[in-house]
Amino acid sequence: MKKLFAVLGNPIGHSMSPVMHNDLFSLYNMNAVYLPFQVKEEELKEAVNGLRALGAVGFNVTVPHKSTIMPFLDEIDELAASIGAVNTVVNQNGKLIGYNTDGLGFLKGLDEYVTKIEGHKILVIGAGGAARAIYFTLAKENPVQIDIANRTVEKAVELITECPYSITSRALTLEEAGNYLGEYDLIIQTTMIGMEPNTEEQPISLENINKQALVCDIIYNPLETSILRDAKERGAAVQNGINMFVYQGALAFEIWTGRLPDIQRMKENVLRQLGGK
Ligand code: NAP
Repeated sequence: MKKLFAVLGNPIGHSMSPVMHNDLFSLYNMNAVYLPFQVKEEELKEAVNGLRALGAVGFNVTVPHKSTIMPFLDEIDELAASIGAVNTVVNQNGKLIGYNTDGLGFLKGLDEYVTKIEGHKILVIGAGGAARAIYFTLAKENPVQIDIANRTVEKAVELITECPYSITSRALTLEEAGNYLGEYDLIIQTTMIGMEPNTEEQPISLENINKQALVCDIIYNPLETSILRDAKERGAAVQNGINMFVYQGALAFEIWTGRLPDIQRMKENVLRQLGGK
């Protein structure tokens, strides 16, 4: 019998996860299928119970269900609980266990550029779900400081207050972050500014950037956002959101199957779908 995997979201049509995971199933000769399901907020509970009843081995959860799914699961991993969001669920004999691989996916994807977070002074732009996963994950890695800049500063304050790990942090306006920019050696853009239809916009000015800095944007469509183009022109190193996306998927695959999949193949597959090299 075919093993069932899925992703629940709304909208879900543009998700790259089915192509990425189905390719891995054929690579590893697994009799399995990964399907996207568009699920309305009010039908999420039924959808989750439906997947449990169908014996799905595992599934992903994406916008807007990452937090609202939590009460419908049987157990939540410690990191996912502290983040307050789940993006991966595994079905262990009918018991649904929720994990969050977004933050760790970002961290692992960074390996090619920054070998360790310890000693770095970091700026996170944005204070939404993805910023939260990244901030909590990086906070465990002993950086010197992680500041958070957000349009709504109260949300940055909230994030800092709720972080369970001991870390020096300031909540900043986007303008303040632009003024202090030279202080940071790692800058992580997590807002949706730079996606369609705002492809020419960027959340902060890079005028004061330190040229030794690495600028990451977790957006992967487009592959090069306005802020990455600007950072590159100013001589800084840049990384787009492909690595985070691929690693969060790889970590989910590992949770479901016990096997860390072929990262390079996943990356090439996703890049091909996005029209990159
Ligand atoms: P979210 O929870 O809705 O948070 C959105 C963030 O963007 C908030 O900080 C919000 O600020 C800010 N924002 C939105 N519109 C803005 C504007 N016009 N000006 C200034 N700030 C604005 O979203 P999320 O789940 O964190 O996702 C954010 C982005 O990350 C999306 O583009 C998503 O595709 C990407 N993502 C990528 C990956 C990956 O694997 N590469 C994984 C997850 C997410 P306020 O608080 O002021 O509203």
